[in-house]
Amino acid sequence: MPDLTDERDHPEEECGVFGVVAPSQDVARIAFFGLHALQHRGQESAGIAVSDGTHIIVQRELGLVSAVFDEPSLRSMTGDMAIGHVRYSTTGKNKWDNAQPVALPRGDGLVALGHNGNLTNSDALRRRVVALGHELQATTDSELITALISYEPGSLLDAVCNVMPLLQGAYSIVALTEHELVAFRDPNGVRPLVIGRLDGGFVVASETCALDQVGAEFEREVMAGEAVRITRDGVESRQALAPVRRALCIFEAIYFARPDSILDGETVWESRRDMGIVLAGESPAMADLVVGLPDSGTPAAIGFAQESGIPYSEAVVRNRYVGRSFIQPSQEMRQLGVKLKFNPLGAIIAGKRLVVVDDSIVRGTTTRKTVQMLRDAGATEVHLRISSPPIMWPCFYGIDMADRSDLIAANMSVEEVAASVGATSLAYLTLDGLQRAMGRPASVYCRACFTGEYPIPVPDASGKERFEAPTGAAPSR
Ligand code: SF4
Repeated sequence: MPDLTDERDHPEEECGVFGVVAPSQDVARIAFFGLHALQHRGQESAGIAVSDGTHIIVQRELGLVSAVFDEPSLRSMTGDMAIGHVRYSTTGKNKWDNAQPVALPRGDGLVALGHNGNLTNSDALRRRVVALGHELQATTDSELITALISYEPGSLLDAVCNVMPLLQGAYSIVALTEHELVAFRDPNGVRPLVIGRLDGGFVVASETCALDQVGAEFEREVMAGEAVRITRDGVESRQALAPVRRALCIFEAIYFARPDSILDGETVWESRRDMGIVLAGESPAMADLVVGLPDSGTPAAIGFAQESGIPYSEAVVRNRYVGRSFIQPSQEMRQLGVKLKFNPLGAIIAGKRLVVVDDSIVRGTTTRKTVQMLRDAGATEVHLRISSPPIMWPCFYGIDMADRSDLIAANMSVEEVAASVGATSLAYLTLDGLQRAMGRPASVYCRACFTGEYPIPVPDASGKERFEAPTGAAPSR
């Protein structure tokens, strides 16, 4: 049995944010369950900040939501406003200092902040906050945003609206002071952010699945460039920046978002099934079974089977009780991690020609192991069908995609990739096919990792640990 040290051959997730204002409700517990629903967006750290109108309490720690919080800790965080965050490191290492919400003094109180996305002008902002006199504690761009807000006078909404023009890149953010919660989103709307109505209050979240989890009803998206203030007295919206070209990350629909979330009016599950339907029309294969790799490959596999008339079957069982190796973002750490995530169903696979549907290939290393695993279990042919176009370019907006030199499709032809991973044949969904499946024009999405056409200028240096100090040195300024 080959080791599957990576769970899948995918881009790494990003972060999830959550906020709630609900007088007389247990907001820490609501935030806990909201974050639980967003756990797929980041498994490295989790945190909640709660305001009772006088003080803000912040608890954050490395680990899964269920490991960071327990009954006593939730009970100790009383209040009526809260924000929460789950993190996968896209800028800055996985260490406690980089866990969120970030909290900094502001006026007589605190401002706490949770960020999903990645800024592209962090270097300039870093110089700016240092010049303001801020002593950097973490290595994330999220701290820079919090610091900028902490130096702005006036209401939190005013401060956010003053800081937003300084930020470039992708950001969907929740920020909290003792009296205000403000949710705001970059003018391209790269990362999702939605508002829901709760009995007696409001909720904001990265995805609608978190609204469902806490019993909130979807109200609307936070618009690109919009800042929404939620207080004990109600909701106020301000269009802080004019929306520019909409550029929602299309990978949210392909892989990141939970299948039961709704993006652009359609469940993510349906979008993925439609990608499989289009893929089957574009790149059919002669086979006995269509199989999907659990969990994110499954809806596209079902769509492929539906369109091709080839029966669908599960062929691989995933051990759901093994922690996701995404917790360990470096290759070195992965090799120390859990080895076995999948077990093939030999009785189903043996002697069969398989169409194996997956949603993406990044480096190819795990795909190679997966194909080998299926062959070892008796598959006579493995026709790999990928429900997204080839990933050719890195992401600068909050997704850990690897460098271009590590992206297998950027360095090999489709035939060479097929040979490299050991597949009988390989085909990717075309860009046109992806748009047909999405049912919306290409112009409303970011598709830069497929096309290299970045909707927001990208920085020259973008390694995620670029702000880390050399070993033994003080944090750089
Ligand atoms: S580059 Fe790719 S992963 Fe990054 S925001 Fe754009 S579509 Fe999403």
